[in-house]
Amino acid sequence: MFKKILVANRGEIALRIQRACRELGVKAVMVYSEADREAKYVKLAEEAVCIGPATSAQSYLNMPAIISAAEVTDAEAIHPGYGFLSENADFAERVEKSGFQFIGPTPESIRLMGDKVSAKQAMIKAGVPCVPGSDGELPDDPVQIRRMARAVGYPVIIKAAGGGGGRGMRVVHTEAALINAVQMTKAEAGAAFGNPAVYLEKFLQNPRHIEIQVLADKFKNAVYLGERDCSMQRRHQKIIEEAPAPGVPRKLIEKIGERCVAACKKIGYRGAGTFEFLYEDGEFYFIEMNTRVQVEHPVTEMISGVDIVKTQITVAAGEKLPFTQREIVLRGHAIECRLNAEDPYKFVPSPGRITMWHAPGGPGVRVDSHVYTNYFVPPNYDSMVGKIIVHGDTREQALARMRTALLETVLEGINSNIALHRELLVDAKFMDGGTNIHYLEEWLSHHKR
Ligand code: ADP
Repeated sequence: MFKKILVANRGEIALRIQRACRELGVKAVMVYSEADREAKYVKLAEEAVCIGPATSAQSYLNMPAIISAAEVTDAEAIHPGYGFLSENADFAERVEKSGFQFIGPTPESIRLMGDKVSAKQAMIKAGVPCVPGSDGELPDDPVQIRRMARAVGYPVIIKAAGGGGGRGMRVVHTEAALINAVQMTKAEAGAAFGNPAVYLEKFLQNPRHIEIQVLADKFKNAVYLGERDCSMQRRHQKIIEEAPAPGVPRKLIEKIGERCVAACKKIGYRGAGTFEFLYEDGEFYFIEMNTRVQVEHPVTEMISGVDIVKTQITVAAGEKLPFTQREIVLRGHAIECRLNAEDPYKFVPSPGRITMWHAPGGPGVRVDSHVYTNYFVPPNYDSMVGKIIVHGDTREQALARMRTALLETVLEGINSNIALHRELLVDAKFMDGGTNIHYLEEWLSHHKR
């Protein structure tokens, strides 16, 4: 096992990784920008290194600064968390060339999955069901493009191979609009991602977002830890997640989970990963793979009892997965609400000083947050200030626990989306389960404040 790990991230995930290190008896070196000097995990750290100014480009995205921090502190491995450099294959490569272990998959796996065209092709080969489409980069010839779109059937969506974060996509409803949309998406993709390649797929009208969590080691052992339903989204940003996905037959999940495991083995995947799917009319369609730990990983931890972050670390250190698929038992139901520092209905970010923070508690309640009373939420980063996660024997119990937890939570001094969560947790349709990816936006348009 490693003696020391450098945590190359900030916020709640930095604290989450620090906690995993402590449990494993591994020292954690925390890095921070000048804006994060007062963060809880920095105060709690045995060792912390300032890696630059507030601007991410000069700190959390600054590869030389992070690698030198690992060098000066004698860390053996680097955990990238999520966001920032976590899915940057060049970073993973530089980390390993500098003699450190990257806590994640190989640079080759990151590269393969980071390009949506190559990812989709790899998934088709591995037998994972994908959205019908061009199954490769679109050619230049308009006649061929039109033929492909017609074969798939309208509406279609044009997507950039290098896209991410909900950017680089365009929905096309008619043939008349097709070629112009392809050209515009190509130009934007070239400018935004440095890769103008685009592909085409059927646009699914009312899908749910359901994803499969996997864990794999260096010995080609892989397991899946069930699924998460992340359909409650606004502008492709998830705000509530849960596991299991309400109303999806277990047999179907098993089938798709086994396909994901087979794909991991086929591509030599190691570490934690998530296969994201759209789910419509009883069918799963792969859209992309995230080659890192995800914000919503705790709901899976709650129902499986598996510590995903600790397992990321142990498999990176060369240990075997400590369980087989048959030993994984999923129990009960878990829900996560992301707490964001923003106006609950207008979504304007609300950085500033927290004058009062009181976290909820009680049976089955978990809070992952780096904030505290008097903490200053810096304006430079993502607005998420923490997550409340609850577990219950049934979905009804989990919902009741989340309502109680939200009632107890106090966050003053800045705006937060707690009021929105409180309303959604008593919304009849959400309580029924199985809402699709448009539900939250539609709900918001009917609940204008
Ligand atoms: P990103 O990497 O930018 O998150 P994804 O491929 O994961 O891109 O897609 C993001 C979101 O865009 C999905 O969650 C879904 O809401 C929508 N989307 C993507 N592909 C399709 C599709 N074929 N049909 C309908 N919606 C889609």
